[in-house]
Amino acid sequence: MARYTGPVCRLCRREGTKLFLKGDRCTTGKCALDRRSTAPGQHGAANKKMREYGMQLREKQKTRRYYGVLERQFVNYFEEADRKEGMTGENLICLLERRLDNVVYRMGFASSHKEARQLVLHGHFTVNGKKVNIPSFIVKAGDVVAVKDSSKESPKFKGLAEAADGMTAPKWLEVNAEGMTAKVVALPEREDVNFDFNEQLIVELYSK
Ligand code: SF4
Repeated sequence: MARYTGPVCRLCRREGTKLFLKGDRCTTGKCALDRRSTAPGQHGAANKKMREYGMQLREKQKTRRYYGVLERQFVNYFEEADRKEGMTGENLICLLERRLDNVVYRMGFASSHKEARQLVLHGHFTVNGKKVNIPSFIVKAGDVVAVKDSSKESPKFKGLAEAADGMTAPKWLEVNAEGMTAKVVALPEREDVNFDFNEQLIVELYSK
């Protein structure tokens, strides 16, 4: 399935929650969901009662869209989460958190997952000193993510570092905004993810 290129605010309206896909705009009065909270489409305003399958499907789509992951990749993450010890749903969220594009977003160097993905794809980041331009790269405890030396001097990254300074990073990341680095001091845990996911519904969906 190809990557979605349409208006992203429609996705938030479809899921009925802010997915923060447009960066700074999402926290202003211009947010489309704040202005029109109904689902998109001709029958979006109809008060339809969702069945169990519908709720499970919507939760999966919400999670997938929040992290900007394609369907096939998402299934792969689920299968990997299922093979690990512990709760599959929690494993799934923690695995998605460890994507390199998400780390860049959590560092405060991008205002959305989409922007973070672009920055990684354009080769602006290194992991343990080596350039990595794969947004789905999974970081491990002890890894150091940094802005590439040649990008550090650009006005864009200086601006991003200023914006990131003072932002609260999750406790599993030790961010040095001035040095443009972040160390993964521990693997993320479910309670570190401050977003309203109901991962159990996703597990139920894929367990049918
Ligand atoms: Fe979603 Fe952001 Fe658009 Fe609001 S502005 S609907 S949070 S993408």
